[in-house]
Amino acid sequence: MNILVLNSGSSSIKFQVVKTDQDLIARDGDRCLAKGQVERIGSLALVHFQATGRPPLKEDAPLRDYRCALDRIVRWVISPESGIEGIKSMADIHIIGHRVVHGGEKFRSSTVINAEVLEGIEDCIELAPLHNPANIRGIRAAAEVFGRGVPQVAVFDTSFHATMPETAYLYGIPYHLYRRYKIRRYGFHGTSHRYLAYRYRVLKNIPKEKVDIITLHLGNGCSACAIKGGGSVNTSMGFTPLEGMVMGTRAGDVDVSVIEYLAHKEGLSLPDMITMLNKQSGLLGLSGLTSDMRELLEEEKDNGDRRATLAIDVFCASARRRIGSYLAEMGGADALVFSGGIGENSPAIRKRICAGLEALGIELDAARNTALKGGQTGEVSTKASRVKILVIPTNEELLIARDAFRAVAGLPQPTFSPRKTRRT
Ligand code: ADP
Repeated sequence: MNILVLNSGSSSIKFQVVKTDQDLIARDGDRCLAKGQVERIGSLALVHFQATGRPPLKEDAPLRDYRCALDRIVRWVISPESGIEGIKSMADIHIIGHRVVHGGEKFRSSTVINAEVLEGIEDCIELAPLHNPANIRGIRAAAEVFGRGVPQVAVFDTSFHATMPETAYLYGIPYHLYRRYKIRRYGFHGTSHRYLAYRYRVLKNIPKEKVDIITLHLGNGCSACAIKGGGSVNTSMGFTPLEGMVMGTRAGDVDVSVIEYLAHKEGLSLPDMITMLNKQSGLLGLSGLTSDMRELLEEEKDNGDRRATLAIDVFCASARRRIGSYLAEMGGADALVFSGGIGENSPAIRKRICAGLEALGIELDAARNTALKGGQTGEVSTKASRVKILVIPTNEELLIARDAFRAVAGLPQPTFSPRKTRRT
């Protein structure tokens, strides 16, 4: 089966074509046939497509909306120019899998999209006003381009975290506000954390119930996840992706009183404040230079920029604090897993995050850490390290493709249900 995996953002669509089926899943042999993205939809869009093992195609194209962008993607995918093995017409694309950011409390597993499910995703717009509308545009564009004959499946960023106990997902605010408005921690990046847990289990050849690890997804957005018995028991992002660790442009945890104080001092509206915390904070806000970690590391090295160092140090401290708190919460863990653009590619950041964690049983092996190349999977802890340190490149698209296949084939899906906690 060929699955088109779509990740629709505010002005972009990222995609992968993944070949998977029951046999390939069992052998862990499913693979990406092609991937790419269209950015700046609505103006002169940037197109970047690449079939596995072939040279990339890069061009500018005037693509006015999602439908046009998806049309462009599909025309390339089925063209002889892309040369994708086994795909010659639209009939060779069997299922569309969508990354959907917010599934609220309703969606605890990946779901075939019908009118009712689409309505459910629309109901979650008020929880994710920046993300779900784009995901819905992607779903509608796919329905227009492919028609009703091709099933579409929604895979939610939130569902892996549905196993969190109340003690992790409730905020210390009046309980009726949770009941009335569903204000709680949902967590995001769930498909990435779930993939890391899966890959760890395969690497270690252990059953799911034995997976007790802390995963760090460090990209432009960053989140940590405490995984016990194979399921999420806590995660750093909250009601929205703004909470938690310091990120590229997001502030992470901030005393909410700052919002009122600053709004007053700077004459900013509430939406302005939220934009500032989402888009002008984090590494960008602290350094005053860039949200890009690689550029900050270069600034620090080449020019000794003090604010670049400060931003990197605050970032690493916020990650370290999260690791410590999850170790306490989980009563220890077997491994710490780094992933995402920063976690996979930067030995320097892994080293700075792990510095000082030796007393907690986390010991990085300097030589193994620097020797591991970007994109590789490997262990970078010392032999004596009680908590192993691994680097695992994430692959959300693979899980989206697998879920999409299973949902359409009517095979059992991983479902994530909340753990019971005792009423005290
Ligand atoms: P997204 O969250 O948008 O998917 P990525 O996971 O690709 O983003 O992560 C992007 C981040 O990874 C950027 O801050 C980028 O600078 C950082 N990054 C990528 N390669 C390196 C590297 N070699 N060293 C340090 N940081 C890197």
